[in-house]
Parts: sequence; structure tokens; C-alpha cells
Amino acid sequence: MSEPPYSAATAAQVQAAPDRPRLDAKTRIRLRTTGLAAIDYALNVVILCCYAAVGTIAAFVPWVVLGISIVLNVIFLGGIASGWSKRLRDPSMTAWQVGAACGINMLALIMAPQIGYMFLINVFVPLCYGSLYFERRAFLAAWVLLSAAIALALWANGFQVGVALGSPVEKGLFLVNVALALGRFLTINAEVSHLRARLQQRNRELAEASVRAERLATRDELTGLPNRREALRVLQVECERADRAGSRVCIAMVDADHFKRINDSHGHPVGDEVLCELGRLLQTALRTADHVFRYGGEEFMVLLVDCDADDPVAPFERAREAVEVHGWEALAPGLQVTVSIGTTQRQPREPVEQVLRRADAALYEAKARGRNRVQFGALR
Ligand code: GH3
Ligand code: MG
Ligand code: MG
Repeated sequence: MSEPPYSAATAAQVQAAPDRPRLDAKTRIRLRTTGLAAIDYALNVVILCCYAAVGTIAAFVPWVVLGISIVLNVIFLGGIASGWSKRLRDPSMTAWQVGAACGINMLALIMAPQIGYMFLINVFVPLCYGSLYFERRAFLAAWVLLSAAIALALWANGFQVGVALGSPVEKGLFLVNVALALGRFLTINAEVSHLRARLQQRNRELAEASVRAERLATRDELTGLPNRREALRVLQVECERADRAGSRVCIAMVDADHFKRINDSHGHPVGDEVLCELGRLLQTALRTADHVFRYGGEEFMVLLVDCDADDPVAPFERAREAVEVHGWEALAPGLQVTVSIGTTQRQPREPVEQVLRRADAALYEAKARGRNRVQFGALR
């Protein structure tokens, strides 16, 4: 027997059905909060119905409150779900919702003064929401407006605020009402917890972003070594420290020989790998306390701390030799890399710029003398 026709039709419909647009996370949160407020309105209507059923208040009161609640919730939920509220400054319509909740309670205070306590305690919850989201000025305005509205409502109902504790049912309703009013603070607590969690998340993101920004500002992307900016900062710090401790620092400028040719013959990617490898070799050849920076292009700066030898060529000779004998062929056949190094020792309290100039001049001399050598820049 063939499949019933509706089955095929349903499958086809399911396949053809376009994806329904999903609500974004913020809209869902707004809908959830507004939905909770709608449940709150419904609970109030139920309690009013009970009061009306036992004759405490007029029968029309719950109907009026129900009608207004439906209209308000259709506006709020519809406005948020349709995305219309996004064009407002506050897409959650917090001010409108707080105003509406207070307004409906004031109206009820006029219509049912016999249970005026209920409407007075009810306004604390929307006001608490307001205190979370309003700026100080807006909250001040809300407080003044609400106080004036309460005065107006009391004036309108002849200053009656009943509690209605006559019958056992009324006593029960009173207790339920107070418990519910207190229970509404659970949603406030959930809201505060949510805000706190969001704040912590933001703080974490900010901390991570600042670490990333700091890394970008101080590190060379290719080699991972600290960059020129960091070199100048560390140099300054180490020189001040050396002056205080009465020790010396040595600086060296290390420049790859004929690096342009390496790029030309083996390609830029190989050139990049050579630079990374040079950084690693320099770090390995020197002590861990010493600093290696990528100063720019194919040039590195090395800073030796506590370097009291009169002619600090030995550690750089070691580094130069390590580069010369390294197995560069593994990177590209026929590849050979050497470096020229200009080094000098800083005199006590000597300006950093002067030391750098001397190291540069020594490097220039090392190049002029045939490259692949260490040149010490002595004081003249
Ligand atoms: P010398 O021995 O006189 O220092 O000659 P050289 O060729 O090393 O010096 P020159 O200043 O003429 O050329 C430096 C080259 O380094 C040119 C430039 O393209 C290359 N270079 C600079 N930065 C990078 C980089 O990040 N990656 C690669 N692959 N090459 C770079
Ligand atoms: Mg070079
Ligand atoms: Mg150079």
C-alpha cells in the first residue's frame, strides 16, 4: 500500500520551510524578563479575583486590571519580540515597564482601597528594577513621580489604605500576597546575579585584551622576541639599575650578513625562518639573564647585564661562531648564514644614546672589515 498522501506533503513542507529567524541572545533575555513581569501581572489578577470572590473588593477590579495588563504585555512583549524596541534608546523599555507597573498599581489603589497595602508593596519591585537600570537622574525622577502618584491616588480614594484582615480567607490572601511580594525579589536577585556574571566576563575579556595589546606593542610578531620599543625601555631600566648597583652593561648590535642575498636566492619565507633561528641561537648562546631583542629588519640588539669584563667580546664570539657552524642547510640547500657584531661597554652614567652610537659604529666597522666578526667599540 502506498503512503498516505498527507505524509509526503508534510515531509515536503518540512523540507521547503524556510529557516525561521532566531531571536538574538539579548532579545531572548529581554523577553524572559518581560515574560516574568507578565506572569506577575497574572498572579496579581488571580489574587484580585479571590478578593473579589469573597466580596472584599468590587467585581470589576480584576477585569479592569486584566484588560490593562493584556494590553501592556502585548505592547511590551510584541515590541521586543518583533525587534521594534531596538530602535529605542533602551530596547528593554525598562522605563516604560516600570512606569506601567507603578501606574496600574496606583489605578488599583484608587479602585480597591480596601486592599491598598497590596498595591503599595507591589510598587517596590518595579522600583528595584529601576534602581538597577536607571541613571541617577532618571531614578530620582522615578522616585519623585511615584511619590506624587501615590499622593494623587490616595487623594483620589479619600486617603484609604486598607489591609482587609476580617475573614480567614482575607488573612490567608494577605499572607500569600506578602509572601509573593517578597518572592518577587528572587527575580531581582537573578537579574543582579546575571549582571554580576556579565561584569566579571567583561573584566576577564578586558584583562585578556590588555595582555594581548601589551604583547603586540612589545613583541616582534615574526620571532616572538621583544621589539625595538621594548629594547629601549629595558635598556633604560637596566642602565639605571647598573648605576645604582655600580655594575656595567654591554650592548651589542648583531646584523645578518648579506641578508638581502639570502632572500634573493632562497626566498622571503626562508629569510623569515633564518631570522627566527638567529633569535633562538643568540638566546641559547647567551646567559638567561641577558636580553635579546629584534631591533629591526635583520638586526638584533643584545644586552648583557652585570658584564664587568673590560673587553666583552668572548660571549659574542661564542654567539657568532654558533651562527656560523649552525646547520643552515637543513633550511635550504646551500644556505649559509653569518652575522657581524658590534659591541661596547657602557661607562657609569653614560647616556644610552651614546652607547648605542658606539655599538653601531663598531658594527659598521665589523662589516667594513669583512663581516662575520665581532668588533669591540672602545672609548676614544
Ligand atoms: P649587510 O651584510 O651589509 O648587512 O647586507 P644586508 O643584505 O644584510 O643588508 P641590507 O640592509 O642591504 O638588506 C637587509 C635585507 O633584510 C633587506 C630586507 O628585505 C631584509 N629583511 C628585513 N626584514 C626582513 C624580514 O622580516 N624578513 C625577511 N625575509 N627579510 C627581511
Ligand atoms: Mg645585514
Ligand atoms: Mg641591517
